[in-house]
Amino acid sequence: MSFDGQTPIAVAHPVPRSSRQARVAWGQRVVTVGGDAPVRVQSMTNTDTVDAIGTAIQVKELALAGSELVRITVNTPEAAAQVPYIREQLGRMGVDVPLIGDFHYNGHRLLTDFPDCAQALSKYRINPGNVGKGAKRDTQFGQMIEAALKWDKPVRIGVNWGSLDQELLAGLMDENATRAEPWEARQVMYEALIQSAIGSAERAVEMGMDASQVILSCKVSGVQDLIAVYRELARRCDYPLHLGLTEAGMGTKGTVASSTALAILLQEGIGDTIRVSLTPQPGEARTQEVVIASEILQSLGLRIFVPSVTACPGCGRTTSTTFQELAKQIDDHLRAQMPVWRAQYPGVETLKVAVMGCIVNGPGESKHADIGISLPGTGEAPAAPVFIDGEKAMTLRGEHIAQEFHAIVERYIAERFGAASR
Ligand code: SF4
Repeated sequence: MSFDGQTPIAVAHPVPRSSRQARVAWGQRVVTVGGDAPVRVQSMTNTDTVDAIGTAIQVKELALAGSELVRITVNTPEAAAQVPYIREQLGRMGVDVPLIGDFHYNGHRLLTDFPDCAQALSKYRINPGNVGKGAKRDTQFGQMIEAALKWDKPVRIGVNWGSLDQELLAGLMDENATRAEPWEARQVMYEALIQSAIGSAERAVEMGMDASQVILSCKVSGVQDLIAVYRELARRCDYPLHLGLTEAGMGTKGTVASSTALAILLQEGIGDTIRVSLTPQPGEARTQEVVIASEILQSLGLRIFVPSVTACPGCGRTTSTTFQELAKQIDDHLRAQMPVWRAQYPGVETLKVAVMGCIVNGPGESKHADIGISLPGTGEAPAAPVFIDGEKAMTLRGEHIAQEFHAIVERYIAERFGAASR
């Protein structure tokens, strides 16, 4: 075996895309989007905004889970009237995450009639397909941009194929019908989505918006459609891009579809802030969409949010569920502690823990982690070697292996990362 005749294997990494940088701020907290900023995680509440306390609590949960921007629905005068109280309540809870207002149909009126709401929000989401028809569309879109200028807020021009500007689409369809070789209907739809987003952004800039303060999105619900649209959108403009698969669905389907689409685009440098639009399963926490978005970025090596737990899938060599339970307990514990540990133990998110089911890959994988345990497989001696920084440190035996390993991980974190904060 030798290197003869081989060239080094290229290391895979996301390709950077050059874009402008938007600033979304609340008080001293500034979240940059695009440019050299890390890809941001955002989410959206599903509470009734009129319920200010309930909404503030969910915003806090999403922020603690790692959401760097949180969007709330602003759909009625009653909802708009509550926005300043939501902000106030968040202030009392020590939460300064920027809030984004999601406006449709009546956003122009709400932003004009409720100045405290316009001020309490850090960004406005405008859907050009839902701002009015005919001549009214330009006036009402203009009123929303005027509010953004008045209150010095960035905007997201968020086009969605479910609410695409029908006049624009019909015009392009008619024109397509006269072509010698007409495009496929879906290609005309792609074109309409992109023209709606970029055309609206250009109108906002003509009205005086700083182009850096305009973020674009063109959401569709098909993975291949999203890839096609965003590749072209990224090619045609340098606005920061909000990326997400709309109506991704529930559970495994929604998670896989979002992860597949977003990972491909992020690897190409496309996407400056992401949202995973997951329909929560009954009883599932809204924060799950934040966990998945963070995991997508962490899996690609774009961000590090939480310590990683490597666990083997298990097989016929380990028939007990001990290692599955231990891996889950450790993963849940590390994740739950992160809001506190972030401040207490700087750098703890880089920790790597391995929990393995038997001797085949257990010791090897454990040595690659900062701290790892290789549990006994079926028929193996009831002993679990623990590796710390690549060296075998001890062997655990008996009934309380899980509790003892927990304590070892806690001690390791305090010693290694606690020192950084002293
Ligand atoms: S480490 Fe052991 S138990 Fe886990 S998958 Fe590999 S062979 Fe199976």
